[in-house]
Amino acid sequence: MSQTNWHEVEATLYLTTFRRIPLTIVRGEGMRVWDDHGKEYLDFVGGWAVNALGHCHPVLVEAIERQARTLIHTSNQFYTIPQLELAALLVNNSCMDRVFFANSGVESAEGAVKLARRYGKLHLDGAYEVITVGDSFHGRTLAMTAATAQQKYQELYSPLPPGFVNVEWNDVQAIRDATGPNTCAVMLEPLQGEAGVRIPAADYLPQVRQWCDEKGILLILDEVQTGIGRTGTLFAYEQANIEPDILVLAKGLASGVPIGAFLARERASVFQPGDHGSTFGGNPLACAAAYAVVNYIVENNIPAHVARVGARFLDKLNGLVQELPMASAARGRGLLLALVLERDIAQDVTLECLNHGLLVNRVRPNAIRFMPPLIATDEDIDEAINILRTILASA
Ligand SMILES: *Cc1c(COP(=O)(O)O)cnc(C)c1O
Repeated sequence: MSQTNWHEVEATLYLTTFRRIPLTIVRGEGMRVWDDHGKEYLDFVGGWAVNALGHCHPVLVEAIERQARTLIHTSNQFYTIPQLELAALLVNNSCMDRVFFANSGVESAEGAVKLARRYGKLHLDGAYEVITVGDSFHGRTLAMTAATAQQKYQELYSPLPPGFVNVEWNDVQAIRDATGPNTCAVMLEPLQGEAGVRIPAADYLPQVRQWCDEKGILLILDEVQTGIGRTGTLFAYEQANIEPDILVLAKGLASGVPIGAFLARERASVFQPGDHGSTFGGNPLACAAAYAVVNYIVENNIPAHVARVGARFLDKLNGLVQELPMASAARGRGLLLALVLERDIAQDVTLECLNHGLLVNRVRPNAIRFMPPLIATDEDIDEAINILRTILASA
């Protein structure tokens, strides 16, 4: 029990950026978290698709404890073993050849763009422009705000760094039309998370891949949200039958320990010593945590579990759409799903879910997003569906 009203403390101390949900989480275990009054919640937000193994998974806790007692940080002047073990694990389980570790999604996406610009300088006559698409999300630095094609983020911070061209989503011709002598890369999410979980047409990614090949420009896939098993394969690009030149990862990579990465095919691996760097990126503690997580996910074939329970979850959400006038559509893949509502009541539904002990994410005014830990069971999903049915039936 806590006597402190943390919501009031936050209101006086923290920069007012987050639209907080009135809940102070103090503890987590598996699929559950507890608030400062001891109330239990089923977590279908998963720290925004971060807590891949749920809360405080013993495999992760043990890896952090062991590494914390051994070596937490050095600097990238020196070789460290957890960094290279994680690099090998990611390279061996993807189509990529090399890796760079950062600390967050945005920093990894921006690093990927820097690599593409280096490629442009070396191989494309100095081309530097990156094409991105509508309602994308690549993070919050100034450069990635320019990449993130959403006016609500961009208009607050203009002028934004140049070098990004925003075109329509799910429109290959728009990418072709925007490609010019300055274009060095196209950057896309294989499936848009922040936009409300949107899946492009089946031939979109293959056609974009083909266009990039024709023009000799790079394809960067931002799998910060979709990577590490979230959509039912280790990486979402596998389901599109394409291979990117540069792959961006973060969120689920260490199940809650901050880390990001971008990986590149050999031909795009053009950095020279000194071209890019990071103080914390790839440090032993974060890498040992990520290694334990990715290794667990690969060894236990968690992506296959995600595909199975995710398909069943989507079926059940479609059942709600059939049953309830307030539910109008369900979409997504694996355990990255959304339920679209008839009206803009996603915020009210989210707060009502909270009362019923379920955490969900209002991703759009009329859409709820579900990103539970990848270890979610059929029983967890049934529990969430039942709560949603109760709430939406009387909404
Ligand atoms: C969350 C997200 C980011 C930004 O990651 P941060 O760790 O918040 O910087 C970038 N790209 C995608 C696709 C994301 O979902």
